Amino acid sequence: MRVESDFKWGIALFNRFSERINFLDTTLRDGEQTPGVSLVPENKLRIAQHLDELGIDVIEAGFASSSKGEFEAVCLIANQGLRAEVASAGRSTRGDIDTVIKSGVQTMSMIIPTSDLHIEHKLHKTRDQVLNVTEDCVTYAKAHGLKVDLLAEDATRSDVNYLLKIFQTAQACGVDRVTPCDTVGILSPDSAYVFFSKLVAELKVPVGVHCHNDFGMAVANTVAGLGAGAQMVHGTINGLGERAGNAAIEEVVVALHTLYQKQLRIKTELLYGTSQLVSRLTGVYTQPNKAVVGENAFKHESGIHTQGMLANPLTYEAFPPELVGRTRRIAQGKHSGSHAIRADLDSMGIQPTDEQFNEIFQRIKELGDKGKHVMDADVLAIAENVMGLNGVKPIELQEMTFTGSNNALAQASVCLCVNGKTVRGEALGVGPVDAAINAVKDAVKETENITLEQYNVKAITGGTDAVVEVVVNMRKGTRIVTAMGVREDIVKASMEAVISGMNVLAIDYRIVNGNNNSSSSARRH
Ligand code: MN
Repeated sequence: MRVESDFKWGIALFNRFSERINFLDTTLRDGEQTPGVSLVPENKLRIAQHLDELGIDVIEAGFASSSKGEFEAVCLIANQGLRAEVASAGRSTRGDIDTVIKSGVQTMSMIIPTSDLHIEHKLHKTRDQVLNVTEDCVTYAKAHGLKVDLLAEDATRSDVNYLLKIFQTAQACGVDRVTPCDTVGILSPDSAYVFFSKLVAELKVPVGVHCHNDFGMAVANTVAGLGAGAQMVHGTINGLGERAGNAAIEEVVVALHTLYQKQLRIKTELLYGTSQLVSRLTGVYTQPNKAVVGENAFKHESGIHTQGMLANPLTYEAFPPELVGRTRRIAQGKHSGSHAIRADLDSMGIQPTDEQFNEIFQRIKELGDKGKHVMDADVLAIAENVMGLNGVKPIELQEMTFTGSNNALAQASVCLCVNGKTVRGEALGVGPVDAAINAVKDAVKETENITLEQYNVKAITGGTDAVVEVVVNMRKGTRIVTAMGVREDIVKASMEAVISGMNVLAIDYRIVNGNNNSSSSARRH
């Protein structure tokens, strides 16, 4: 997929891209330094496995010397036999190097501060002493068989000649890569280009780009650094990281792929799934309008836009959602155009007459005018009502019980009626909501391959008896639908949302033999 544009002259400025661009993911180290984020070793491993699958070259698994749990997590990931190179961060001390060696990783991200600010106020050392530490530590780590990526902390506020001296010293000691870190995110695309051009020209070893997002330019600066010849992207999934975060890997990947037509070894179609996993496990959800992985990145609502978009998606999309493992979504609401609603109904196999369609269209607009978010389940319910389809529900909840709990886990069992047959499901979960949703999944696992993509909850009123609104995104194959449940009880609201979402996905009203009704022969699953 290329972006057709006459503005190729702008792109020609960044003309020193390396033939091979590598990715170092530091979600599990710099990303975990996000306030409030702490991952247990098993969850770190799950993320590492996804990153490996995604095609990341180097996984920075953690900071081995920071705690016992962190050391265990690094060991666990280092010993999985992943395809990717596994690295641990550590300070430039023999103690930290020894811990990294013990963890079993191949590579150390060896951190050395290089700005006078850090050298004087944090280390209480002199520039010469830091130079000696660099020489000693790189030599020691190399002698013990580690690959070394030297990360110069606060490099962008360092005397650039001193920074070069540090890197050249490391180079003489056999360092494998060097990475100047823009620790407080003060680069801009033009300064990044000049800065990286100088480093790349003066050094023989590959140079990494490690940018922070304090001015919202981490991704742009990363691309500029690569355009100046840097070879290794340091970034995190969803741009996680302390303060405003790090460069978002998914955004760097898509920009390089689509705007600069770079051949990468990243399986772009796995980006969204990886982003969702990281959101779920860290509890840090991305803003809806975030590029590439945000909830609205491929959602269209305005009537005029959706008409053009349905005719040709390129009209309002820079790249197809499938590139990153997503699907296009049309949100119905007060701006909805008739084209969008027709397309939505079509995806459910519903083909109303013109008269019926006008009625459906009006009722959806009315809901939108009342300020309501119109869910797919609402569209289906309105269409069924208007067309007299009697709201056939393939899946109905008959009974839900909580059979107790052991330790931190809750246990739920449900009884569902699925296409007229009674099925039961039972599952454990973190709390009753998770247990109940898992039990529903267990019950339908034979008949419906439906996954819960996103779960959002909000209390509409205050107090412990507040009305709770649960909104879910559910997926079956490439289709994603939204549904909502509103109850005073969060478990019931969740069940209502999940089951109505499942029903939208399970129902497919195809017109069989011109028979426009809801008899079971007209439904195909
Ligand atoms: Mn950092």
